[in-house]
Amino acid sequence: MKYDVIVIGAGIAGAVVARELAEKGNCRVLVLEQRDHIGGNCYDKADDYGVLIHTYGPHIFHTNDEGVYEYLSRFTEWYMYPQGHQVVAKVDGSLIPIPFNLNTLHLVYGEQKAQELEQKLIAAYGEGSRVPIMELKKSEDPQIREIAQYVYENVFLKYTMKQWGQTPEEISPEVTGRVPVLISRDNRYFQDRYQGVPLHGFTPMFERMLDHEKIDVVLGVEASERLAITEDGIRLDGEPFAGTVIYTGALDELFDCRFGRLPYRSLRFDFEHLDQPDFQDGHSVVNYTVSEDFTRITEFQYLTGQQGCDGTTIVREYPFAYTGAQGEIPYYAILNDENEALYDKYRALTAQLDHFYLLGRLAEYKYYNMDAMARKALDMAERIMEER
Ligand code: UDP
Repeated sequence: MKYDVIVIGAGIAGAVVARELAEKGNCRVLVLEQRDHIGGNCYDKADDYGVLIHTYGPHIFHTNDEGVYEYLSRFTEWYMYPQGHQVVAKVDGSLIPIPFNLNTLHLVYGEQKAQELEQKLIAAYGEGSRVPIMELKKSEDPQIREIAQYVYENVFLKYTMKQWGQTPEEISPEVTGRVPVLISRDNRYFQDRYQGVPLHGFTPMFERMLDHEKIDVVLGVEASERLAITEDGIRLDGEPFAGTVIYTGALDELFDCRFGRLPYRSLRFDFEHLDQPDFQDGHSVVNYTVSEDFTRITEFQYLTGQQGCDGTTIVREYPFAYTGAQGEIPYYAILNDENEALYDKYRALTAQLDHFYLLGRLAEYKYYNMDAMARKALDMAERIMEER
């Protein structure tokens, strides 16, 4: 047997677990990647105009996990945002800070009323707290409910309808809870200590991670061409494979979607290069929370810190329901009881397999941030090394 470990997928989950097992576990690792590049949805590259773009939508690394930060820092330097990552929403022609915070409150309401409301919010929730919109809406206080209603209508309702095809009430509270109302003057989108992007891009970081004598990466290969899950175990190229398999792809596809497809939201990215130095007046991301068919526009030069480009490249994001058609990409699992029950049926099919692990947004049908994914991959590698 040539390999000890097979990793399906070269995104953040696959790359971290492969590197750990090769380096610390002394394993020979084969990484099989469906696409013609590594990096999963973090993949970035220069467009025809030399602007570094994120092919699968804007990705920002942010974490409080020192271990994850140090780990990834072995493979890249960083462009850390001096003021943190900041997002604004276009509402009635003005730009307001998102998440909705006390600065937003003062922009939306007149100074006197804002002052009064600010005191109420602080008294009710405490300074510095983070309140999910669906919680704020339940307040007993009519004035707080009025703020909640404003935020609900101007920040969440239409954006969520576009993104998910459902109202905030219909989707998992975990999702809107990612962007809570902040009872503070903090305009940053994330409150993590580290926030930024790899200085020279995500792709070189992945290249370095996977550049190891014990790792072979094969691109452009469907897992099913090499790997088979059968009644009596796992086969690689037709031969029984007794090693470890870490699968980071969509779980339904591993079983030919026999119970039906797992539902996902997908996105169409419309890139546009403009022959002008700036488009969003320095803002990397503008959310369109009350108008337009797209959810947000990202201007890459401000996301990546790249300087000296001719012109600027932007991307608009148009969400739609994933159907599984050729070329569509499943970006977001749609978290609800029914879908999770379907996922569990698929997962049960893997329960009898020895040394078979599911890891990642797709394989686990979860909504992971990059840092949580890297953490999970590091922990999984640890566990696998103990078990081997
Ligand atoms: N959301 C919203 N308005 C906003 C930002 C977020 O309604 O201006 C909601 C929306 O439902 C979205 C969720 O909060 O899907 C999570 O937002 P996040 O920015 O974390 O989504 P991601 O960047 O992962 O697509």
